[in-house]
Amino acid sequence: MNDPRSHELFERATRIIPGGVNSPVRAFGGVGGEPFFVARGSGAYLETADGRRLIDYVQSWGASILGHAHPAVVEAVSRAAVDGTSFGAPTEREVVLAEAIAERVPSMQRVRLVSSGTEATMSALRLARGFTGRDAIVKFAGCYHGHADALLAAAGSGIATFGLPSTAGVPAAAVGDTLVVPWNDVAAVDAVWAAHGERIAALIVEPVPGNMGLVPAADGFLAHLRDMCTGTGTLLIFDEVITGFRVALGGAQAVFAVTPDLSCFGKVVGGGLPLAAFGGRSDVMDHLAPVGPVYQAGTLSGNPLATAAGLAVLGQLDEASYTRLEASARRFADGLRSALTAAGLAVWVPRVSTLTGLFFSEGPVADYAQAQGADAERYGRFFHGMLDRGVYLAPSAFETLFVSLAHTDADIDQTIASAAEVAASL
Ligand SMILES: *Cc1c(COP(=O)(O)O)cnc(C)c1O
Repeated sequence: MNDPRSHELFERATRIIPGGVNSPVRAFGGVGGEPFFVARGSGAYLETADGRRLIDYVQSWGASILGHAHPAVVEAVSRAAVDGTSFGAPTEREVVLAEAIAERVPSMQRVRLVSSGTEATMSALRLARGFTGRDAIVKFAGCYHGHADALLAAAGSGIATFGLPSTAGVPAAAVGDTLVVPWNDVAAVDAVWAAHGERIAALIVEPVPGNMGLVPAADGFLAHLRDMCTGTGTLLIFDEVITGFRVALGGAQAVFAVTPDLSCFGKVVGGGLPLAAFGGRSDVMDHLAPVGPVYQAGTLSGNPLATAAGLAVLGQLDEASYTRLEASARRFADGLRSALTAAGLAVWVPRVSTLTGLFFSEGPVADYAQAQGADAERYGRFFHGMLDRGVYLAPSAFETLFVSLAHTDADIDQTIASAAEVAASL
């Protein structure tokens, strides 16, 4: 049973918007029940349309690293709005933001701004194909790279296989050159390279996969991918839409010391506004129009409000921010693990830097198949128990949990206390 105002809004929404939402996971399909509507957010908290206050561990899927409505972002966006919201012509902040990204992520020799993570990965792939003159691409089962057709391919049954579309509306031809490999499986990677190496334009990977739950790379796996790509002239694309400016100032590529040819950013870099970026090696990026033959464009690309927000957020982040954020994530992950384990529940709570995962699983989760084996039904009950106690976790068992810099130790301790209560009832 939902709160009355949210319930009324959801009823209206379902009559005009398919499923009542503008992005599927928001509909609570993964956990059951109805979504609440958000009236406003502040710091670590959301306020629902019904006036309930929730500690938020979604944080716009990681975008709001400073917490909601941070004064620096609000101020920057408000000031920018006064000067006009879109021109379709160059503005100074686009240059400053591109420089700010390159300063923090040295592999970003050239940067192009776009409006969503989907656009960034889609464009990076087109560029990789245009640069190499090859058609095939490789992705990992369970990695999500936005909803471009070629990337909506799921795994075969544990073996490298040509992809099949995992959604209606994607023609077989659109994924016909997409090879899907099981995550963390060195032998499968090697087999694909042995069979197809010379025709693979790009390997795209989340360096810390966070869209099948959090499933970190095994030691040395990313370095192996780098070697395979280098050996065949395949471009290595890091999809850092979650990890960029989230796990470290320099992203996952700094944490793991593996340098991709191209990278994609989103979420944090837009400061909660629609902005994303892709970039990397200048010899590759200079194949983009208007200097090169690979077309890519966008009316709202480098939007003045979005660049203002992105710059405001990056301006707030230094090395110390990540030390603090990681300490919060550690407190959260360790607390959650102890509370659930103490109640006799089998859980796997991975943490990478500032990112936390939660699986109700008997054993470790190292790939997509194991992630899918976790108890999603139990997660749903846990989710609702937490929501009843004022804690908003991801409304799906296969997402990452995000603390923000606005979460205090007291917020986290209260969350853990709630988790212990809920765990006792599972
Ligand atoms: C969210 C996400 C995307 C897609 O970004 P959108 O802005 O939702 O289009 C791509 N890759 C990863 C790793 C993501 O988490």
